Amino acid sequence: MNKYTKITASIGPNCEDVETLTRMIKAGVNMCRLNFSHDTGDVQGNKIDLIRDISSELDMPVAIMIDLQGPKHRIGNFETEHKYPLEIGQKFTFDSDDTPGDSTRVQLPDSDVLESLHVGDRILLNDGKIEMVVDTVSADKVETTVVRGTEIWSRRGFNLPDTEISTSVLTPKDRADLAYAVTKNPDYVAISFVQRPEDVAEVRDFISQHTSHPIKIIAKIERPNAVERIADIASAADGIMIARGDLAVEVPYAEVPAISRHIIRECRKMNKPVIVATQMLGSMVNSEFPTRAEITDVANAAYLRADSTMTSEETTIGINPVNAIETMANILVHADADAIANPYDWSRVENIPENDWSRSVASMAYLNKASAIVVFARDTIATTEISCRKPDIPVIAVCNESVIANQLCLLRGVFPIYDNQLFGMRDGFNAARKFGINSGKLVIVDEDKISLRTLD
Ligand code: PEP
Repeated sequence: MNKYTKITASIGPNCEDVETLTRMIKAGVNMCRLNFSHDTGDVQGNKIDLIRDISSELDMPVAIMIDLQGPKHRIGNFETEHKYPLEIGQKFTFDSDDTPGDSTRVQLPDSDVLESLHVGDRILLNDGKIEMVVDTVSADKVETTVVRGTEIWSRRGFNLPDTEISTSVLTPKDRADLAYAVTKNPDYVAISFVQRPEDVAEVRDFISQHTSHPIKIIAKIERPNAVERIADIASAADGIMIARGDLAVEVPYAEVPAISRHIIRECRKMNKPVIVATQMLGSMVNSEFPTRAEITDVANAAYLRADSTMTSEETTIGINPVNAIETMANILVHADADAIANPYDWSRVENIPENDWSRSVASMAYLNKASAIVVFARDTIATTEISCRKPDIPVIAVCNESVIANQLCLLRGVFPIYDNQLFGMRDGFNAARKFGINSGKLVIVDEDKISLRTLD
């Protein structure tokens, strides 16, 4: 059986050469993620060119997603590079003074952050290992009490789970990165630290001012206020990434599974694809084998009918990125097959109107025991809606525009076939055959016409 759940692979130093990338795509990568927190400009642009070349050489559509760093906050520098001890209950001050810090204070370089903090807000540093609570705020400093942590040192990143930051979701660096990236026609742009639907609208505006290429937007959910507004954010965006790395710092970690399930359900209702990200096969950075817990985590994403799982450091800096992808694909193929053989009762969680047309397509396929749904995909809308009904048969998308084929790569159970000559009924049959389906019934969707055909 084919893999229904897609793989998004983060691309980094250990998998940027043509041979490794080719093997990863053949092993099951459907979307490549280029993280602009690390390289920028032409270094990333050359990777986009390389992925496009490999995709066309292999005749396999592959989506490209650029991931903007976003407002990732860091404290200033200390007097020395040493670690400074902290004691529980001690006072610690953050201010706007750029003189090097000591064990009682340090600079917060972003003035908008200082201005946004309120008494009682938590400041979580170094992946949550240090926690401080704000006692007092004034124009140019906040005083806090340390409630967790033993040491602090220069340039630690921090998260503010209780604080809504009022400034733009796009930092000056993001604007420069995005202005460059859009010249390379990526299929998706992922925005970090989204807080509200307006953040998505702001990025959409920025993109439309710089290009007419139909780039789709993925909102990364990693803040509690984004979780609260998930329906509005999913509605504004074209897809969602559950960015579990920062999310597990900003919300109590034990809530991450429930939040993930909730987000996946909301996306299904809103007809938006969803990616489950971070530490899926984390141990494979240094190991040839996943842990039992990782195997189960990847499989659970497939059972929940997420569209895509994602690799992070296991492919960017791991000892064997190709093996990480083969491992993920192997787990997904088995979980997808089991999920299809023992389907979950989606009616319990779904809130789609009975007469929704995409539900009719899925029902028609189910009741007639169709082998596949073939969609003539003039855009991504119809295929996305059908995919979000999670039919347990392939959705073959016949595309005569490469950007549509690439973007559809992200969707669970969708197999885009690109050829700029395609679009007659015979092409639909041939696409099914190309995909290995040689007999049985097909549900054919061509704009608003839905028909049942027998493959001959
Ligand atoms: C995450 O936090 O899970 C994530 C995917 O974002 P980043 O890797 O950019 O921190």
